[in-house]
Amino acid sequence: MGRLYLSPPDMSGSERERLLQAFDSNWITTMGAAVDGFEADVVAFTGAEAAVALASGTAALHLALVVAGVRSGDEVWVSTLTFAAPANAVVYTGASLRFIDSDRTTWNMDPELLAAALAEAAAADRLPAAVIVVDIYGQCAELDRIGELCDQYGVAVVEDAAEALGATWQGRSAGTWGRLGAFSFNGNKIITTGGGGMLVGDAELVDRARYLSQQARQPVLHYEHVDVGYNYRLSNLLAAVGSGQLAELPGKIERRHAINRAYRAGLADVDGVDFMPWDDRGSPNGWLTLITLDPSTGLTPHELCAALESQDIEARPAWKPMHLQPVFADVPTVGGEVAAELFDRGVCLPSGSAMTDDDVDRVVEAVTGALTNG
Ligand SMILES: *Cc1c(COP(=O)(O)O)cnc(C)c1O
Repeated sequence: MGRLYLSPPDMSGSERERLLQAFDSNWITTMGAAVDGFEADVVAFTGAEAAVALASGTAALHLALVVAGVRSGDEVWVSTLTFAAPANAVVYTGASLRFIDSDRTTWNMDPELLAAALAEAAAADRLPAAVIVVDIYGQCAELDRIGELCDQYGVAVVEDAAEALGATWQGRSAGTWGRLGAFSFNGNKIITTGGGGMLVGDAELVDRARYLSQQARQPVLHYEHVDVGYNYRLSNLLAAVGSGQLAELPGKIERRHAINRAYRAGLADVDGVDFMPWDDRGSPNGWLTLITLDPSTGLTPHELCAALESQDIEARPAWKPMHLQPVFADVPTVGGEVAAELFDRGVCLPSGSAMTDDDVDRVVEAVTGALTNG
């Protein structure tokens, strides 16, 4: 039996052919028909106003903050339950951070905590320059409410939809709720280019990001610069893979949902195991299936992951919240207990769209064995 990975690449359609087409066109650079095509495909798929293809999701978040006007001395608020990229992007701008805890229905930024923190900050005349709301594990945050709150105070929303391409909230696509949104095509995301990202949103801001992502070159023959730029564009070769992957996304979402249902059915009778809730105001993309272990199981996420590892199954604890990371030890945090508890109990199970039903059964048996044999 082969090793089961958490979320390996799943190349199933036209990706290889498109990659070779781009190669043969000799546009082996950060522009070309495949880059333009991939941007248009993401706009068509999500309904975003505009899109620019970038080298990573982290680059997309960084540029989002830059074009939203965030600068040194500002504050940016970020969901604490996340991968480190959005917090790092804030540090790149020189702004300072504040973390906000999760709610229990979406596991994302708690709108009640945000409301209270915004009211307090407004009273002290210390409103943040932006809020980065993360859609964790492919499920959207309560984006309507968070958007309304931020609008009320004139605070820009950047949606980190790196894990949530193809998810919706109240029928609207993940990534399109804030003024700007970021996607990632890293190797373990629901679709991948082997590294890449996309910034979507307000057309004027996206245009500005496109300009900055190409070293801020003025439109003249010689090299003229009036701004400091970045080298953040996506390769045309990788963009070709991206369009091929995106064409397959609906099928991949369907498969990940089926895997989630199979885990729920297979582990239904195991005491102390619960699943990350899916809020029915949205439709998650099913990127990863997460279980939570009640303390009564006597097993920690690390112990369960070790048991699975011994059977060549990759599993991981839930994201360690940013407010518990040594690198961000000094960052003020609103709440934090919910995200800390999710980290103490949560385990990500293999969820790749190429998994077979037998693969899922193998994981179910391994989890059941670990939890019932002590
Ligand atoms: C993967 C990820 C990113 C960063 O994307 P990269 O393309 O790897 O730079 C940002 N935010 C979250 C929540 C992620 O999971």
